[in-house]
Amino acid sequence: MNFEILLATNNKHKLYEVRKILSPHGIIVYGISDLNLDYKEPIEDGKTYKDNALIKANALKELTDLPIIADDSGLEILALDGMPGLYSARYAKDLGGHQNAFVEIFKNLENKPRDARFVCDIILVNVEDKPLLFEGICPGLIGNEAMGSEGFGYDPIFIPEGYDVSFALLGEDIKNNISHRGRALKKLLTYLRINGLIKK
Ligand code: IMP
Repeated sequence: MNFEILLATNNKHKLYEVRKILSPHGIIVYGISDLNLDYKEPIEDGKTYKDNALIKANALKELTDLPIIADDSGLEILALDGMPGLYSARYAKDLGGHQNAFVEIFKNLENKPRDARFVCDIILVNVEDKPLLFEGICPGLIGNEAMGSEGFGYDPIFIPEGYDVSFALLGEDIKNNISHRGRALKKLLTYLRINGLIKK
């Protein structure tokens, strides 16, 4: 029998990526809009990715018995004291979109080191009594220009360690294998396998 899970997101790119990674393991991933739930989007005012992922998971916990995963993620740029980090979505939104955010980041990084990393915290609820955390980190660099059009968010400006082009140029299979989200989901898969919830 397939293992079913609800992903606490309305971000269709995240849903697509998570489905792509989990479905080969016999996992059916629902998005919020796939289920008829009386759901109100919570305010993400946590101080950490983990807190925000918990807020998203808890907003759905009582509405379904399905296992729920919630992901909170961000791009941390070392020379900018870890910004935009927890505020990655808001930073781009406030500047009028990711393209404008790229321009701002390039400006702020002139003559500075370009080290950066993506972080993803995934919280799983409705399986054990307590929420479980799976974290993935992908180190890399900010490129000198936006490259490629695949993926979403900051993908065109992030060059993962060991490669010389952006996530958006590498494409979904490579990205999913090494990304922050891919790494967190591999830990989740190991947990599900060890506990006999999935077979492969
Ligand atoms: P949230 O986790 O939905 O609160 O938003 C995280 C934000 O971080 C996204 O809106 C993107 O701007 C950025 N982000 C997170 N993961 C990725 C990724 O895999 N690629 C590019 N940008 C990402």
